[in-house]
Amino acid sequence: MYEVGHWINGKQVAGTSGRTADIFNPHTGDVQGRVALASTAELDAAVAAAAKAQVAWGATNPQKRGRVMMALVGLINRDMDKMAEVLSREHGKTIPDAKGDIQRGLEVIEYCIGAPQMLKGEFTDSAGPGIDMYSMRQPLGVVAGITPFNFPAMIPLWKMGPALAAGNAMILKPSERDPSVPMMLAALCKEAGLPDGVLQVVNGDKESVDAILDNETIQAVGFVGSTPIAQYIYSRASANGKRAQCFGGAKNHMIIMPDADLDQAADALVGAGYGAAGERCMAISVAVPVGEATADALIERLIPRIEKLKVGPYTAGSDVDYGPVVTAAAKANILNLVESGVAQGAKLVVDGRNFALQGYENGFFVGPHLFDHVTPDMDIYRKEIFGPVLSTVRAKSYEDALKLAMDHEYGNGTAIFTRDGDTARDFANRVNVGMIGINVPIPVPLAYHTFGGWKKSGFGDLNQHGPDAFRFYTRTKTITSRWPSGIKEGSAFNFKAMD
Ligand code: NAD
Repeated sequence: MYEVGHWINGKQVAGTSGRTADIFNPHTGDVQGRVALASTAELDAAVAAAAKAQVAWGATNPQKRGRVMMALVGLINRDMDKMAEVLSREHGKTIPDAKGDIQRGLEVIEYCIGAPQMLKGEFTDSAGPGIDMYSMRQPLGVVAGITPFNFPAMIPLWKMGPALAAGNAMILKPSERDPSVPMMLAALCKEAGLPDGVLQVVNGDKESVDAILDNETIQAVGFVGSTPIAQYIYSRASANGKRAQCFGGAKNHMIIMPDADLDQAADALVGAGYGAAGERCMAISVAVPVGEATADALIERLIPRIEKLKVGPYTAGSDVDYGPVVTAAAKANILNLVESGVAQGAKLVVDGRNFALQGYENGFFVGPHLFDHVTPDMDIYRKEIFGPVLSTVRAKSYEDALKLAMDHEYGNGTAIFTRDGDTARDFANRVNVGMIGINVPIPVPLAYHTFGGWKKSGFGDLNQHGPDAFRFYTRTKTITSRWPSGIKEGSAFNFKAMD
């Protein structure tokens, strides 16, 4: 049993609220640790200290901040194996997946080494007689990141990299389900040279989130999590005058055209649907084969592949495809939705309901499920399941398939598998979804592009990482300057064009 406190002013401190949450081992169902849940007073104290530390950090030149990012890259690589082990133990994902989680966060830190380039302003020489005009990007001050359980390394790094490199101080409020890796990352930031107080990790639940939303010093809130909470945070943060970007849930469709390479599509669906037990916001949860013949041929290929999946603990070796889901509540929710699918008339062609793993009977393992003949009115189609459950909706035509993806309330990612360039291009142009894959099932953009969904998958302006992240965590100031040699006409009291 271990205790996770908060990371305040460069060291781990115990919580003082008297409230804690259990950290489960999802493989066994046992409580393995406890995490402190911060009170409003603890959060406010962390913010006040961060505001003090930000003054000097914001005034540090950007290349020095870039160098801290560079050192952090080396340290994360050094500790990759250790962190992946802790991540797998708290989250349940396999070691390769845990390393992928860390790696995709690390890539954003690599991108942030280029902070001086990202923070360069614009300059117009001689905008008028003796007049120059320029803009600069300045940090916002203290900002907050609130992150979900499913990527406990990647998403905290997506938040803290750009925010810190831009000269802000950050309050990171990670998920209370798997808080250890964010704490390890905070310790590495200190080792990389980040001054104490610039990154404060405050663990907690709704109380600390509400305290973030109401704290007057915090200027911006970057959130990732489920849609109802994203919507709540977006409205409360913006009502309090904060900049907010809140990324929510997903229901990602993959359209399989009759001309697609069906073996390739089936392989892609299995990886994208069941990898990380389906607990990815970019997982494919809906397969949309176009035409009955495509659907039959696809299902025929999917069933044996899914039945072969090896579900087990990360300790069981490299051939384990996925591990347990994060909590007993998540498991119950997934199985309830599976029951609703059966009750509402979908055909369960791979039934994982009776899955059991010897020696891990109390763990949160869920067997793989495949539904065929799913219709848009069913709960398994409308709701995000966030588990190893793939639904197949048979479409009559390309237009019907496109309409399905367009009409769904979520719009995070989508993919099309086809050999036809025209169809692929039309799909990419017309579909109202933020990230599109063409023969790529999980189109997660790399660090120097931006990541973000549309519709109920994202609220607020600007995306995560890439140039948008630096825009989100900075504000622009525009300066017009005139020096005495340019003043030829005495005082001007009118508002006139500079010609
Ligand atoms: P969640 O919404 O339950 O929790 C996210 C964060 O919000 C956590 O830090 C949590 O402590 C906090 N929170 C939870 N309930 C709250 C409440 N009532 N008031 C205030 N704060 C609250 O999400 P989760 O279960 O941790 O993560 C899974 C969800 O995140 C899925 O819906 C998934 O699709 C989504 N997700 C989205 C993206 C994306 O980029 N769009 C990426 C990863 C995950």
